[in-house]
Amino acid sequence: MLPLIHDLSRTDLTAACIAAGGPAWRADQIWRWLYTQHVDSWEAMRNVPSALRAALAERFDLASFSVADDQGDPAAARKLLLRLRDGECVEIVLLADRDRHTLCVSSQVGCRFACAFCASGQAGFRRNLAAGEIVGETLAAARSLGGRPDNIVFMGIGEPMDNYDAVLAAIRILNDPDGLNIGARHITISTNGIIPGIERLAGEGLQVELAVSLHAPNDAVRNRLMPVNRRYPMPELLTACARYTQRTKRIVTFEYTLVRGINDSAEQARELANRLKVFPSRVNLIPLSPVTGFDGQPSAPGVSERFLATLDQAGINATLRNSQGQRIQAACGQLRLRHLA
Ligand code: SF4
Repeated sequence: MLPLIHDLSRTDLTAACIAAGGPAWRADQIWRWLYTQHVDSWEAMRNVPSALRAALAERFDLASFSVADDQGDPAAARKLLLRLRDGECVEIVLLADRDRHTLCVSSQVGCRFACAFCASGQAGFRRNLAAGEIVGETLAAARSLGGRPDNIVFMGIGEPMDNYDAVLAAIRILNDPDGLNIGARHITISTNGIIPGIERLAGEGLQVELAVSLHAPNDAVRNRLMPVNRRYPMPELLTACARYTQRTKRIVTFEYTLVRGINDSAEQARELANRLKVFPSRVNLIPLSPVTGFDGQPSAPGVSERFLATLDQAGINATLRNSQGQRIQAACGQLRLRHLA
């Protein structure tokens, strides 16, 4: 299999053009075809000499996937199943909010972390996505929308910090002002709490948003829901998040899925508030969506609101996610699981 042209940074694309016999400035033209016109064929690059196109086509692939399934409502939430060149599949989810679109991308094929309430972890880990495949997910969305999405969230299949280099390489391509031009503040990396990844990200000088899946007020509950907590326990994780905020001056968002009788009591809300009040952050409460293979139930009516109010009274900046956001969670991994079954 050839490498993907979308794996290349701008500098690497320039080097590739020179190696293929073209002048360096042709890379700017090709970059624009790729990332402002979103072309999916070499022939479409009309102002690039055919000899250079042919030389590049011998070295790089342009198509990273085909669309294997497309479900949902384009005006609200839509899921696309993408089949990669080796036959593996990943999902993307497109959420529409008036005229703005948020794209939820995958960073791996499968996931090795097996969080209790997540369909993505149930089928295990297959492989990392290459940077060009992650960029390809965004291009698939752009072609489908007729323009680039406004926001990107790494909340699809996989753990982005477990594929750190490819995710960061993809973000630098997505962020390029002469290409897709998706501002760093419109890109969110969501992690299950891998501390070395959080520490590396703090040193990147990027303005991306960081979300951490917490889902528990203490280690005992978190160990039950998220096995990764045994490796990176909550006290150390929260210390790393506080350091991240101190270093980057950027606030971390904590994701907290409410599960009936497991993590949704008023006492647990007070415990969470006590842990979080020592540094600025925000909490995103998420109503549980049904997931095949997990028997947890959504909170009883009124309980989520009481949890929110308790955090609020303790001075924690918290919101209860709307049903749009909930649909991202519902979608994550489930379409792929059905195709694997
Ligand atoms: S929530 Fe994230 S880290 Fe946990 S199993 Fe699902 S994809 Fe993996």
